[in-house]
Amino acid sequence: MIKAKKSLGQNFLIDKSILEKIVNTTDVSNKTILEIGPGTGNLTSCILKKKPKQIFVIEKDNELSINLKNKFNNQIKIINNDVLKIDETKLFNERVTVFGNLPYNISTEILSKWVINLKNNFWFECLVLMFQKEVADRIIAEFNTSNYGRLSIICNWKLKIKKICDIKPEAFFPRPKIESSLLYFYPKKNFTKIKDPKNLEKITRIFFNQRRKMLKKPFNQLFNGDKRVLDKLNIDLNLRPQNLTLDTYYKLTSEYENLIS
Ligand code: SAM
Repeated sequence: MIKAKKSLGQNFLIDKSILEKIVNTTDVSNKTILEIGPGTGNLTSCILKKKPKQIFVIEKDNELSINLKNKFNNQIKIINNDVLKIDETKLFNERVTVFGNLPYNISTEILSKWVINLKNNFWFECLVLMFQKEVADRIIAEFNTSNYGRLSIICNWKLKIKKICDIKPEAFFPRPKIESSLLYFYPKKNFTKIKDPKNLEKITRIFFNQRRKMLKKPFNQLFNGDKRVLDKLNIDLNLRPQNLTLDTYYKLTSEYENLIS
């Protein structure tokens, strides 16, 4: 009997209808699949039934990795490692479909790493990922709302995002205290050109550092009060960081890159 480790965010999905819903979010047959944190392999079994071309799984827990090897034998390729240490862009020579009931303590870190590291050639076709509901709400938040912030701006830069459903704690064992949400991400065809995505991280960090304050201070810190940028992007410095649209943040980053180049 496997004992769930809290430190690795182990809440195993046991509700069959939710497992089905996850694999039915996108087409799996004949695709190369990457699953993050397969745990006891409940989702892996459902994916296998849909006849993918191949499945890679990344699982940090040694005990669970051995268990998965015994359960699935050569049907899956197991990478017994920390997903944060893997460079997925080097693993595959075709676009993959990614599934993950992510460990909640590192879910935003994983997603930010993937978005920030995205080159012009996407290494994935789509991502089907589960988050703590409160985090999912921040990812999909619209501007002018209190959930809108750095995570929404960074995630929506190159990706389109759709919420599939919310999931109750009863769907897991052990039961988490919080609700979860399933999100579906796929590459945008067009997005604002940013030379170094680290600048998007920087701009959003400085603007949202004091999210209740007006835009004047962070703007002046970054742009030295450059009125030309304000006029071009139609920005009113009396507004607050959450009042600027996604597009304005991407364009601000691009203007910032022009300024420092
Ligand atoms: N997918 C399984 C399910 O739905 O039943 C398990 C999901 S559980 C929320 C998260 C899984 O991610 C666990 O199996 C845990 O061991 C694994 N994990 C935690 N941290 C990890 C990391 N840094 N890299 C890879 N796997 C990790």
